[in-house]
Amino acid sequence: ALKINELCVNCDVCEPVCPNRAITQGETIYVIDPALCTECVGHFDEPQCVAVCPVECIDPDPDHPESEPQLLAKLRRLQQES
Ligand code: SF4
Ligand code: SF4
Repeated sequence: ALKINELCVNCDVCEPVCPNRAITQGETIYVIDPALCTECVGHFDEPQCVAVCPVECIDPDPDHPESEPQLLAKLRRLQQES
């Protein structure tokens, strides 16, 4: 999963581009739900939130490192639940 850091300026451009609706407005900055973020694997060649963020404040989440196969498996699980 990816994680938004404190440099976030709450511009809201990332929220609508996430294919998994993993991004929401948090108490102070926008936040990514690690259970829903697949790093856009299976949807796009690059993380869409990173592509649109004007301040480059989205990094790998150190608490949720995942391999590409793990991310794909997560995507399949999410698709089955939806
Ligand atoms: Fe959503 Fe993709 Fe960003 Fe994860 S990397 S929060 S799935 S847009
Ligand atoms: Fe924050 Fe970047 Fe999302 Fe804008 S695009 S709300 S600065 S994480």
